[in-house]
Amino acid sequence: MKYHIWTIGCQMNQADSWRAAEELEGLGWQATPDVEQADLIVLNTCVVRQSAEDKARGRIGSLKPIKRHRPSTAIVVMGCLVGEESSGLEQSFPFVDLFLRPSDVEGLMSYARGRWASATPQRSPTADVPVSYFVPVMEGCDNHCTYCIVRLRRGRERSRTLEEIVAEVRSLVDRGAREVTLLGQNVDAYGHDLPGQPDLADLLHAVHEVDGLWRIRFLTSHPSDMSNRVIDAVARLDKVCEHFELPVQAGHDLTLKRMARGYTVDQYRSLVQRIRDQVPGASLATDVIVGFPGETEDHFQATWDLLAETRFDVVHVAAYSPRPGTPAALLADDVHPEEKHRLRRLVEELQGRIATEINQGLSGSTVEVLVEEEYKGKWKGRTRTNKLVFFEHEEDWRGKLALVQITWAGPWSMQGKLGAPSSGPGQGS
Ligand code: SAM
Ligand code: SF4
Repeated sequence: MKYHIWTIGCQMNQADSWRAAEELEGLGWQATPDVEQADLIVLNTCVVRQSAEDKARGRIGSLKPIKRHRPSTAIVVMGCLVGEESSGLEQSFPFVDLFLRPSDVEGLMSYARGRWASATPQRSPTADVPVSYFVPVMEGCDNHCTYCIVRLRRGRERSRTLEEIVAEVRSLVDRGAREVTLLGQNVDAYGHDLPGQPDLADLLHAVHEVDGLWRIRFLTSHPSDMSNRVIDAVARLDKVCEHFELPVQAGHDLTLKRMARGYTVDQYRSLVQRIRDQVPGASLATDVIVGFPGETEDHFQATWDLLAETRFDVVHVAAYSPRPGTPAALLADDVHPEEKHRLRRLVEELQGRIATEINQGLSGSTVEVLVEEEYKGKWKGRTRTNKLVFFEHEEDWRGKLALVQITWAGPWSMQGKLGAPSSGPGQGS
């Protein structure tokens, strides 16, 4: 039997798709890149912006002829397109066999077992896994950001237990993973719903104990939930990488208030300062939305100024997209699409310059790279600070730590040449 999985959206979707693929392989199934060959097609969707939703709906629609020619093909749609209540998806896409809520990999597997009687477990998952693996540690989000549909689709926060997560990380390490990224929409709120209320710092300490694991990352952090304990854990624990994903969304208090983000620009500034004081050399990534309802030129200028002053390593910028059912969708979407496009370009240009300057600061220095895969004839990996590095070498470097001297640096990636071989995990940029 053959399966095909198509994924868009965040790392959580990627993690769910990996898990689905592993479980299907455990049933003896094989992946195929060709939808026409697949017995089971899974589409893992995203609706964070209208453009993502359009892409997901277009992709589902493109499968209609396949179902007509080969009715035995099963089509399953999961991810954030699928809400709690029926939103007319069954009517729009009657040829889809099953709609599953975000992250419902169990639902997918029980469907596969029920539909294909022979699809009983054949082996426990022993296949190799990616060197750098995503591990969801919690689902959902209890915040109320007014623009966000994800919290509506994924529901309230539910944390997995420390023991369950540590056991999964051990098994991943046994199968070749060397780095894990602990995932949550709001990962720094981890654990408050569990007995004894362990927090993200406790989780980092527990995962740090796993032998054979070299690096730990976590994302995405909400600025209001980032505690000193977490910053301290990043500073103290060797395996925890010095990198924070800390979405600010806007640089003006009025916009932050309309977004219901729960902090002010000054509070965000002092959080960044605390991180930089406690974890020198930490890299910082952020998310920004431009063209939010009511955003004036002055409000945007405040965002631009904050980005210029903070000098993030990475900025993900999105044009505001009204999402049905969210409080912001009731506000007039009063920034013209062309204006949103212009604002987005201004942020991209600024960030392109800043990231180039930051990365060029590493030129000539030697960085420690965990090599993830071969890509277009080069080895591809990342530094502890999450910078993408490529280098050429005839030996197999997958899953190893390489010391690479940077010879070229651009805004999104760097290139280098292999230096002395690394003796093992350690510090470095
Ligand atoms: N939980 C994270 C946080 O607190 O920001 C991120 C979750 S959201 C799935 C990922 C990013 O998509 C957000 O940081 C935001 O910048 C962007 N985003 C979410 N809703 C959006 C909307 N309606 N329009 C444009 N961008 C949006
Ligand atoms: Fe959405 Fe806000 Fe929760 Fe992030 S913190 S998932 S933007 S509601």
